[in-house]
Amino acid sequence: MSDVAYPKLALHIAGAWRPAADGETLPVINPATGETIGELPKASTADLDEALAAADRGFAAWRKVGAFERYKILRKAADLLRERAETVATIMTIEQGKPLYEARIETNGAADTCDWLAEEGRRNYGRVIPPRSGDVLQLVIKEPVGPVAAFTPWNFPINQAIRKVAAALSVGCSVILKGPEDTPASCQEMVRCFLDAGVPGDALQLVFGVPSEISEYLIPSPVIRKISFTGSTAVGKHLAALAGQHMKRATMELGGHAPAIVFEDADIDKALSVLSANKYRNAGQVCIAPTRFLVHEAVYDRFVDGFVDISRNLEVGNGLDPKTKMGPLAHSRRIEAMETLVADAVEKGATLKTGGKRIGNQGFFYEPTVFTDVPLDARIMNEEPFGPVASINRFKDHDEAITEANRLAYGLAAYAYTNSAQTASALGARIESGMVSINHHGVALPETPFGGMKDSGYGSEGGIEGLDAYVTTKFVTQQGL
Ligand code: NAD
Repeated sequence: MSDVAYPKLALHIAGAWRPAADGETLPVINPATGETIGELPKASTADLDEALAAADRGFAAWRKVGAFERYKILRKAADLLRERAETVATIMTIEQGKPLYEARIETNGAADTCDWLAEEGRRNYGRVIPPRSGDVLQLVIKEPVGPVAAFTPWNFPINQAIRKVAAALSVGCSVILKGPEDTPASCQEMVRCFLDAGVPGDALQLVFGVPSEISEYLIPSPVIRKISFTGSTAVGKHLAALAGQHMKRATMELGGHAPAIVFEDADIDKALSVLSANKYRNAGQVCIAPTRFLVHEAVYDRFVDGFVDISRNLEVGNGLDPKTKMGPLAHSRRIEAMETLVADAVEKGATLKTGGKRIGNQGFFYEPTVFTDVPLDARIMNEEPFGPVASINRFKDHDEAITEANRLAYGLAAYAYTNSAQTASALGARIESGMVSINHHGVALPETPFGGMKDSGYGSEGGIEGLDAYVTTKFVTQQGL
């Protein structure tokens, strides 16, 4: 289906692309076929020691490179990623499963993110504070925090990584990136763009291996000054505790369970088309995917019928096939998770309107699935589904909808559709969520902050807040000028 060859996989440590020191590897699987497509070097502690030493040297050198020069290098990295987008996107589809057009959007969007962070790195301004006596100078200086350990997942192999890598590099930090073991090659090709653009080899390391072994080795190291993690809430809490124990700065982009509230006065056709597209994008493996649909009883039947119709007609297949609108799940663990959550919902009394089964036994395909009238004690109403399953429940009054939206410990994204300005502004104020998007899907842009509250984590990526995560504030005061 494609002429693009899956690339040879390597670690990048101290300026060299190489296998693991002890030669160990992990298999990489094509989720559309179940075939092994690559052997991924599995970093040992000897490799990590080398990566730490390189990151230490890399930080000392890279922080001294002028902000304008760093900006030019990062802009070039973004241009290289755009030039290589067709190949990189194809590799991503082969290893991750998403439709090729989604992989193209991710790759080009990642280049835009890199451009924006490169630009903002030039504006990492401090300030001068007026003194209490005339012979004192008071300076606030923004310094790079130091070598960063970044841990990124498989659902957006480039986008989740570039937000961390480009932000850290733009202000002068070095990075050890532990990329996604399930989808390593597209992330590797992104790292190659930075290096080819002129980022020094010591400033950017790429490692893979057993995630817990790597994080438990890197986070306590005195070299690492900051960690940034994207992944599940359970792992995030563990890593945040480890970071706290070693007094490391941390950004936590964790799971979500986004409510999508459709009010009686909403544009139902628009709500259906935007929400269903975002429900099934990347087969639902998106932390900001709408997952708990709360629909006013006056428009409930119409919304459910429309959603079921869209779900039944969604073209599911290999992401390389241009007809495909939804690819396979990224790995077999998600199939097991879907089967468990769906069986539990049925047992608890939810109505299965469509889907609910694995498709075939080659690759990891799962039917677009819709439940209605889902009891609140069903696991799917409490645990992040991270798959192509929509749960639709009805509400009568607005307070009821907002109470349900805020019920869970998650607080990442929330969506609502209404034509009432009053309802819209009440939602902006009352929804407990890091991002609230009303009447459109308007989150996750390079220039807007992306992040959660409550169990969805802390810190932002994107927006100027995304750079704050990688700087420390130093105050210098001097008398007698
Ligand atoms: P998982 O929790 O084992 O892994 C999620 C990610 O975290 C992976 O990239 C993994 O390599 C990494 N990870 C796991 N343990 C780690 C550790 N101890 N140290 C460092 N990194 C670690 O689960 P999974 O089966 O890969 O994915 C399932 C769940 O993960 C989903 O249900 C979803 O909640 C969450 N997830 C969230 C995002 C997101 O964008 N927030 C992305 C991927 C997965």
